[in-house]
Amino acid sequence: MRRRLVAGNWKMHGSLAANEALLAALKSRLRQVDGVDCAVCVPFPYLNQVAGLLSGTHIAWGAQTLSEHDAGAHTGEVSGAMLREFGCRYVIVGHSERRSLHGETDQQVAAKFMAAQRWGLVPILCVGETLEQRERGDTQEVVGRQFEAVLNAAGIAGFASAALAYEPVWAIGTGRTATPAQAQEMHEFLRALAAKRDRGIAQELAILYGGSVKPGNAKELFTRADVDGGLIGGASLVADDFVAICEAAS
Ligand code: PEP
Repeated sequence: MRRRLVAGNWKMHGSLAANEALLAALKSRLRQVDGVDCAVCVPFPYLNQVAGLLSGTHIAWGAQTLSEHDAGAHTGEVSGAMLREFGCRYVIVGHSERRSLHGETDQQVAAKFMAAQRWGLVPILCVGETLEQRERGDTQEVVGRQFEAVLNAAGIAGFASAALAYEPVWAIGTGRTATPAQAQEMHEFLRALAAKRDRGIAQELAILYGGSVKPGNAKELFTRADVDGGLIGGASLVADDFVAICEAAS
């Protein structure tokens, strides 16, 4: 049976006081459920605080990006080795905001994915199309290309210890969610691409949906056969909502 994962992406939000309150609420209310992993991916400066507050609990933590380099003259960058030292289990790679606002290419995303794995981190690889690309009928081509770039570089074996997140760009932070049928169609497509290389790994791969997941739509999305959890932005900053979304995955 495939494991499920619900990961929060705090983006560039938080403060020491707000994080403490949010994590206290999650620690007291987020039940540990067999087969479902829950995590928060936080801004770099808060990793130490979050590690201190979550260690010994069932809630994992991670970062939102990393450098493809392990060390060196890369001012402002953070390596997988550093994330490891702060107890991260996960790191998001290739989020659409990194691709569009920071110019990350498919090749760079693949290098980041492999850097994460060199340091024992579980990459959550994000793929997704813009509204324009969907309307042109290019969704599968775009999303397939993003996924294949990493498959070609890391090999299918890399996906034995990674998660994939389908995040249509038009649904991120917009309040406009993909329908459960649209999400299922793309998740099925992605799993089939992985299955061409290794059926066993494809079957076990957690494919998360991200894009305006809320307590009101989570259950319907997560009950689709190939939707194995979610990558949650805005709603992960509200304890009631994140707890309800995690419960919807169980
Ligand atoms: C995200 O940040 O990856 C995301 C899906 O955001 P939201 O849930 O706010 O759409």
